[in-house]
Amino acid sequence: MKNSFSDQPRTHPIHPSSFVVDRSIALLSSIGVSISMSAAAAGAVVPRRLQGKVAVITASTQGIGYGIALRLGKEGASVVISSRKQKNVDEAVEKLKALGIDAIGIPCHVSIAEQRKRLIQSTVDKYGQIDILVSNAASNPSVDPITVMSEAALDKLWEVNVKAGVLIVQEAAPHLSEGSSIVFISSVGAYNLQGGIAMYGVTKTALLALTKGLAAELAPKVRVNCVAPGFVPTHFARFLSEDESIVCYPCCLLNVSLKGTLEVALT
Ligand code: NAP
Repeated sequence: MKNSFSDQPRTHPIHPSSFVVDRSIALLSSIGVSISMSAAAAGAVVPRRLQGKVAVITASTQGIGYGIALRLGKEGASVVISSRKQKNVDEAVEKLKALGIDAIGIPCHVSIAEQRKRLIQSTVDKYGQIDILVSNAASNPSVDPITVMSEAALDKLWEVNVKAGVLIVQEAAPHLSEGSSIVFISSVGAYNLQGGIAMYGVTKTALLALTKGLAAELAPKVRVNCVAPGFVPTHFARFLSEDESIVCYPCCLLNVSLKGTLEVALT
């Protein structure tokens, strides 16, 4: 079964309006940027603390990745946009450039070695170094229980969500500047592995350990952090957001309704 929660129990619906948490704030904080929600909402002037920095963000043509790129760009960073489809890359780069952000786009399916290599090499050719690497790509090919999940789905989860993150870091490592920052995008599902998305949660939990391991290896030159967003209404999460009867297990287990937005990042 693909991306459908329709046969899951319907006991804990999402309550979209009760408590809005913007997880992008936490993410931005982890890479040295902080901003208050009210200041962002009011359209306050964005400080250009990342002027001269170069940020590579995987899977950044929409959703959380695009939100991160936009915010980093507004802070003055040159941003390198990537995702699988050239058209999406071109459109995202145009949108960012129209906002005065220095952006280039390199198509990159994170599971393809030559494309990872080209993403990093093209960045270095253009800018000479990498200061921020955000590993954001993920896949959730199946909502089957772990006991019956196909080997192909297990392989894809591991390939995209974990292994590709390691390999992109390996590719980038020789070019990371002193004081640079790596951020992995995990999920609240890393902490609450329930129903339908349990195996996806396993891969997101692996990112927590990967972060600790890499942080130990790369300190003090490079900081390594991990951000675990709550529910954010993106294409990826559409199957959760379109049907109010669908269970949002991580939210109900935390006993709050966590619904992130991209508002701060997109302000
Ligand atoms: P999204 O809005 O659906 O965007 C996905 C992006 O990834 C697109 O730009 C897509 O463009 C690209 N992409 C997909 N597969 C790729 C691949 N194999 N290689 C490179 N690029 C790829 O997704 P999102 O919700 O922002 O999710 C981003 C991250 O946040 C993921 O790691 C996800 O696990 C995490 N997250 C999301 C939520 C949530 O509620 N949305 C919650 C917690 C964590 P192309 O189609 O052009 O490749």
